[in-house]
Amino acid sequence: DPVIRLTDVNKHYGAFHALRDVNLAVAKGEKIIICGPSGSGKSTLIRCINRIERHDSGEILVDGHRLTGETRDVAAIRREVGMVFQSFNLFPHMTILQNCTIAPRKSRGLGKAEAEERAMHYLTKVRIPDQAGKYPGQLSGGQQQRVAIARALCMQPRVMLFDEPTSALDPEMVKEVLDTMVELAEEGMTMLCVTHEMGFARQVADRVIFMDRGEKIEEAAPGDFFTSP
Ligand code: ADP
Ligand code: ADP
Repeated sequence: DPVIRLTDVNKHYGAFHALRDVNLAVAKGEKIIICGPSGSGKSTLIRCINRIERHDSGEILVDGHRLTGETRDVAAIRREVGMVFQSFNLFPHMTILQNCTIAPRKSRGLGKAEAEERAMHYLTKVRIPDQAGKYPGQLSGGQQQRVAIARALCMQPRVMLFDEPTSALDPEMVKEVLDTMVELAEEGMTMLCVTHEMGFARQVADRVIFMDRGEKIEEAAPGDFFTSP
């Protein structure tokens, strides 16, 4: 079974039709890159999968959980789906370590020691274990985004969603975040990424989907996609 399946998904913001009959199935371990012009619905698509936004019709299944009105399913999905935003979204008043332990403690019921051990494991993986005691404001943008990735991994999600994770970074910090994402991809993580980083897309994508005005207008293997005019 696919980890994520969207069937005829529609989403409006008021009268604005943001997603039009979107169909997509993501298999375990698959890396999908979502491209398209600004305003085409890429972010909305990702946000509906994580239930930050609610779709109006069609079906979204995440690891077999149906996205409906039931809060129990929403909580289950948030545990299965890791999300990394453009703007890091770390809690500024918490240390890096606390940022990484709060969700596993609150929603997975981990004890403090276990949560901290897990946090250090993932902070080491993103190569910033030495920053654990600092606050987000003391870190560079690239470091903060790697913390955001570690924080998501601390929930041990089945799939990771990325919404333009490098767009807010200074150019010299883009590579360190992309390198982390490449490592994650190589380890077999299922990933959906909205990104304009075509080198990254070419390197990791199993499929590229192209959105335009709320529609999924093209889906291709990266080789086809990058050579087409
Ligand atoms: P993309 O990620 O491709 O840039 P988005 O999914 O962010 O596109 O947005 C698609 C369209 O929906 C845009 O025109 C945007 O202005 C609109 N939109 C996004 N979020 C909202 C919202 N919360 N309320 C109203 N319109 C929105
Ligand atoms: P990003 O590029 O990070 O998606 P946006 O400026 O598109 O940033 O959106 C930032 C926030 O504003 C999101 O929560 C999005 O849903 C919301 N938003 C975007 N467009 C509109 C809109 N036209 N009306 C209301 N909210 C919007």
